Amino acid sequence: MRVVIIGAGPGGLMAAEQAATAGHDVAIFDQRRSPGRKLVLAGRGGLNLTHSEPLDSFLDRYGSARPYLEPSIGGFTPDDLRTWSDGLGEPTFVGSSGRVFPASFRAVPLLRAWLRRLDGLGVRFELGQRWSGWSVGTERPALRFVSELDGIEHSVECDACVLALGGSSWPGVGSDGSWVDLLRSRGVTVTSLRAANCGVRVDWSPVMVERFAGAPMKNAAVVVDGLAVRGDPVITSFGLEGGPIYAHSQRIREQIDADGYAEMKIDLFPDLDIGDVVRRLVERRRTKRSISTWLDRCGLSSAGISLLREVTGNQLPTDPDELGELMKGAMVAVHEMAPIDRAISSAGGVRWSEVDAELQLVAIPGTYVVGEMLDWEAPTGGYLLQAVFSTGHRVGSRLAA
Ligand SMILES: Cc1cc2nc3c(=O)[nH]c(=O)nc-3n(C[C@H](O)[C@H](O)[C@H](O)COP(=O)(O)OP(=O)(O)OC[C@H]3O[C@@H](n4cnc5c(N)ncnc54)[C@H](O)[C@@H]3O)c2cc1C
Repeated sequence: MRVVIIGAGPGGLMAAEQAATAGHDVAIFDQRRSPGRKLVLAGRGGLNLTHSEPLDSFLDRYGSARPYLEPSIGGFTPDDLRTWSDGLGEPTFVGSSGRVFPASFRAVPLLRAWLRRLDGLGVRFELGQRWSGWSVGTERPALRFVSELDGIEHSVECDACVLALGGSSWPGVGSDGSWVDLLRSRGVTVTSLRAANCGVRVDWSPVMVERFAGAPMKNAAVVVDGLAVRGDPVITSFGLEGGPIYAHSQRIREQIDADGYAEMKIDLFPDLDIGDVVRRLVERRRTKRSISTWLDRCGLSSAGISLLREVTGNQLPTDPDELGELMKGAMVAVHEMAPIDRAISSAGGVRWSEVDAELQLVAIPGTYVVGEMLDWEAPTGGYLLQAVFSTGHRVGSRLAA
């Protein structure tokens, strides 16, 4: 069987490996000149491959997409992924937060070993080829590609096609979401791609940006909808970034969609209750000193003090009760998410109603969809790559069978 896979990210490569192992003739097309560029980018942050938590709670991270992803993740589990990585010479380990990483903390050694394996299986790579839709009028439906080098267009026929084109964050690495219109033109319903696991825009004063862009607020908790996420939110020239902000991004996005803005509280002393904070403020007060010195004596960082100034319009209260409340919940209003270009992943994609249980498009039989193109989202922590690998594995195994 001639299998064409479009997209040389982890989803496409995994589907290719399974199909080629079964002896199919597999060709992978990608518009970039080298495969797996987003995977390499992910490797710069340590390459969090998956997570070690029990499978049931792991699956809960996909929210409403859980029932659709469960067959794929159940068929290629986090443990299977770790064994697979080990087989490529990249043993994994579990970090203190339960996240799983390759020993090298990088994507390049894993990717190199994987490409060698695919080469050994006879998989061909057609790089610098942009998929631009389907040729009409040919005897069999054919895929159309345009060479990024010379602009020459050509058609490719196949027995099965796997679309593994990714979302649309960091378009420079190739995943630019240009497939959305191509699929919609064939009657496939696609939920618009939105930024997920991303920062938020906050209208900081110029002083805040000048003095604190890049500064983390260590050991804080970010609270949205009453749900607290611990971590180090980072002040940027645009607003706020960092783990706890990413973890809330779906909630914040939904609040902005509903109300035009979202409310986020930053607790600068999550290990102390309000009584302890107020007591500390009272004990460490020196009447002749400035409020900043007082707050500094209470253990608040300069970035934290500035945050309190920002959210009060530089009108810091002097009453310890009021000040304590502020330190336990500085309210930041968010009107906008960071642009999708800088997001870690995208929400939205091909609706689940458009694919069958084997992830084959109902409207275009013989064409399958894997990875971030499908309509799911999940927090960081290895949940993104696991779903990508697992859906690629499911489709590849289906073709193999
Ligand atoms: C900075 C960053 C860090 C990340 N870190 C992690 C992490 O540690 N853990 C984790 O789980 N996830 C992480 N992710 C997310 C993860 O990398 C992605 O979810 C994953 O790569 C998606 O895989 P995919 O195969 O679906 O698509 P992609 O990896 O995006 O691959 C899609 C491929 O399709 C090609 N393509 C697109 N359109 C066309 C076209 N028209 N014609 C031809 N080719 C085309 C692209 O060039 C690309 O190579 C990170 C993402 C970013 C941006």
